[in-house]
Amino acid sequence: MLSEAEFIFLMSVIADGLTWRGDQFVIAVVTLTMFVAGASIASFAGLVAYRLPGILGFEDSDVGIVSPPSHCDGCRRRLRTHEIVPIAGWILCRGRCKCGHAIPVVFPLVEALVGFGSVVIPPYVGDAWIGLLLVIAFWVCVLIAWCDILHHLIPEGASVPLLFAGLLISPIEADAWMRSAGAAAAAALLWISFLIVSKIRNIDAMSGGDIALAAAAGAWLGLAATPTFLIGACLIFIGYSAALRLRGIEWVPMGPALGSSMILTMLMTVHA
Ligand SMILES: [Zn+2]
Repeated sequence: MLSEAEFIFLMSVIADGLTWRGDQFVIAVVTLTMFVAGASIASFAGLVAYRLPGILGFEDSDVGIVSPPSHCDGCRRRLRTHEIVPIAGWILCRGRCKCGHAIPVVFPLVEALVGFGSVVIPPYVGDAWIGLLLVIAFWVCVLIAWCDILHHLIPEGASVPLLFAGLLISPIEADAWMRSAGAAAAAALLWISFLIVSKIRNIDAMSGGDIALAAAAGAWLGLAATPTFLIGACLIFIGYSAALRLRGIEWVPMGPALGSSMILTMLMTVHA
């Protein structure tokens, strides 16, 4: 028979074990949920971006966010449920429709990347609510980047709410005046840069969408972190635009550079 002390010790070991397993279980569920949410949002963002001209009414079609249902662009066949599951759908059909139409590997890659980002941002930030806010900002930036890459257009429906959310609730800069000053400074600097480029190259380089996105980033980051954001955005933009210009692509979207620099600077600032 166990003595009372041994019994209490044994019970405490079991209790510890249960708590430990409980924590592991919660962590596993939260991790999986964030990954699936991120991958699904990336998939949805890709769809919205692809259909953007129809959604905004630029095209004379009845294409919307939910209709028509997802279909193959090759044979117009309506996709079955398992085929539209992020990442797994692409793997199951080996990146190809039955008609032979290829589905670019960039879609599952972006879905996996956004899923991964959604999992790692909250623990990196160290606060669940701040982490969740940054993940939502990250998702909006993914949507904006997709739209800009596919159509050279940053929809106001995404950039303006991002700007106001930054001005009102950004957890990065506590002072509302500094958030407003960040937005104004980022927008003004980008506007001046576009003006200079337009004059020098004698083209119309002015892009209201990029200026709105820069203002949103400035609002989230505040004035103190805005220079870091602008320098980061310039470096990222120079990096991929040089690579694309070598391939003969002249008109390179700036949204992905602004969005990724915004998220990276937020992660750096929240830890500083
Ligand atoms: Zn097909």
